[in-house]
Amino acid sequence: MSSSYRGRIAPTPTGYLHLGHARTFWIAMQRAQQAGGQLIYRNEDLDTLRCMPKFSKSAVEDLRWFGINWDEGEGEGGAFGPYSQSKRTQIYLSAWEKLKNAGIIYPCEKSRKDVAHAGQAPHTEDAAMLEPIYPENWRPPIGAGMDAAHPDSKNWRFRVPASRTISFSDGRLGPCKFDCLKDFGDFLVWRKDGVPAYELAVVIDDAAMKITEVVRGEDLLISTARQLLIYEALQLLPPTFYHTPLMIDAEGRRLAKRNLSLSLRELREAGHTPNKLRQSKDWHYELN
Ligand code: GLU
Repeated sequence: MSSSYRGRIAPTPTGYLHLGHARTFWIAMQRAQQAGGQLIYRNEDLDTLRCMPKFSKSAVEDLRWFGINWDEGEGEGGAFGPYSQSKRTQIYLSAWEKLKNAGIIYPCEKSRKDVAHAGQAPHTEDAAMLEPIYPENWRPPIGAGMDAAHPDSKNWRFRVPASRTISFSDGRLGPCKFDCLKDFGDFLVWRKDGVPAYELAVVIDDAAMKITEVVRGEDLLISTARQLLIYEALQLLPPTFYHTPLMIDAEGRRLAKRNLSLSLRELREAGHTPNKLRQSKDWHYELN
């Protein structure tokens, strides 16, 4: 069966992968297989300080050991490369330029710390999604930065519209909605260390790689709302979304019991097999 379904898995190589990552990617693989489509592997190695080649390598090895196969990207080639974000700077820069020319983003001198101190707590209840709202009175006038030829060494933020609710239908959770400037505020699209922020890079890549469904952890639900604003601003067609339940937090510590806080590597060294892991209580945690 041939299908136009294109899903992707997109690990960030800042450490060894955990069972929670494997579970999300397993679900992504299953959804691609059920749709008779393709799965793409993208290496999200943008953060040059935190991402390390050894973790890009271990991610591939550990996922292959776990039984996750992909059709395109990392090690498989394909027509939509390069599949490592660190090699895609030019593509992100042209998106930065479009957003800048449209007056939708602005350069911002404030640090994360400044915002953490002054920003309002968002209305959301979920701690995983908490990020302080950037104070509206810190915004520069509309048009600020439009004459910049390059992002320079500045942070750039997306000016989130007032009085808007971003709604989408999640493949697992059903209808989701987030209020602009209440649930989330002006967010980073470019970082002063010279790389795009996560929100921008992912949208540009998913659109360029013709991804039709994004499968990822539900800690990124609010990111989906932000990303939908970027799709709209760049007049790109968004994919559909399917957010998986969380098993562990970004540090692998949400549930520090049984095997959940162990990396796939440690689990393997301790003699676990992928099959057994997929039958374990941990695996089924919060899964239907
Ligand atoms: N690279 C992100 C992570 O490892 C996932 C991003 C995404 O799927 O949009 O958490």
